[in-house]
Amino acid sequence: MVLQPDVVEAFNLSGIPHQNLGVVAKERYYLQRDGSIQAMPMLQTLTSWNLLYNSLRRHFPDEHYHQGKSLTNFQQHDEQVTAIFADGTQKTGDLLIGADGVTSTVRQLLLPTYDPMYAGYVAYRGLVDEEELDPETAAIMTERFVFYQFRNSHILQYVIPGENEALVPGKRRFNWVWYVNYDKTTELPRVLTDKNGKRREYSIAPGMMANDIEREMRSYADRVLVPPFQKLIAATKEPFVQTILDLGVPNMVFDRVALVGDAAFIPRPHTAASVSKAATNAIALSDALVEYDHDVLDALKAWELGQLVLGMQLWRRGQDLGETSQFMYGKERWEEQLNFPKII
Ligand SMILES: Cc1cc2nc3c(=O)[nH]c(=O)nc-3n(C[C@H](O)[C@H](O)[C@H](O)COP(=O)(O)OP(=O)(O)OC[C@H]3O[C@@H](n4cnc5c(N)ncnc54)[C@H](O)[C@@H]3O)c2cc1C
Repeated sequence: MVLQPDVVEAFNLSGIPHQNLGVVAKERYYLQRDGSIQAMPMLQTLTSWNLLYNSLRRHFPDEHYHQGKSLTNFQQHDEQVTAIFADGTQKTGDLLIGADGVTSTVRQLLLPTYDPMYAGYVAYRGLVDEEELDPETAAIMTERFVFYQFRNSHILQYVIPGENEALVPGKRRFNWVWYVNYDKTTELPRVLTDKNGKRREYSIAPGMMANDIEREMRSYADRVLVPPFQKLIAATKEPFVQTILDLGVPNMVFDRVALVGDAAFIPRPHTAASVSKAATNAIALSDALVEYDHDVLDALKAWELGQLVLGMQLWRRGQDLGETSQFMYGKERWEEQLNFPKII
């Protein structure tokens, strides 16, 4: 993911070192069908979920981090809220923060009709160790944000930290994301059925894609992408797939319960700002609690509006970017032989 300033700020406020949080890319490359390249200077730091998570986790006290606890319900009382877990345990406190992501149980309990909606396309994704890509392609891809845009699709890649958070050249990974349109009723169910025949809700993990879907994806890449991206995909051992989703909620505060991050708003990934939004939600909530002297109800009331506005703006921006990229020429996937309308 792109390391945005609010994420660095969250590390800073938590007293966690933030000097080596990713790989720096100095420019963007836009690859063209004729083999030429448009370059644009742009300094960005790219990182991985693992590096961010592990850096935060190392600084979080073990006695307050309870793994394997699955929240199934909660109850609000006048002064407190009780979280109820699948193992039968309960915990009571002043505030419950639902930071439980796309499939948020807290959201389902509060807003049962607000489910993530399929946006009309998926992201095929993959990781390739630096040493596994041929030198010619690696020279184009290394320390750059590289794009190839074509009709109703685009693919991008950047270098991220490698295994064990490695930032040393040669030990990092190329990370690619390719957005491809699939019809929700006639095509998506096949894409989301894993190699064991199990239908997954939103994604298929690395190593679990069905053989025929993986073969079709690789063959489509060979027909429509430019050679550097074809080689990157060919070098990927275990591609995986995630559906692109839309979700926005009308409220983030329900008495003593707050929704944050993807539990509240899922902007499409083109904004590259979802983690930063989650960081902003957290920083603002901590500021509000201090400002209102830990009066939870007043602090949440003051916190909510700004966070709703932020969520809605990003949600809208992600939709605009995605609709332009994926549906400018209708809903189909591009093939040379398809008679697509001329570029306007
Ligand atoms: C293709 C793609 C590319 C992306 N690129 C970027 C990018 O460049 N930059 C960016 O900022 N974002 C990006 N994102 C989005 C980013 O991954 C999410 O916004 C982010 O992970 C959400 O953080 P979160 O903490 O809200 O939820 P999550 O990271 O989903 O965490 C939720 C946690 O809650 C736990 N949980 C769930 N249910 C329960 C329960 N009932 N009880 C207890 N625990 C529970 C889960 O196990 C998980 O640990 C991208 C997403 C996609 C799909």
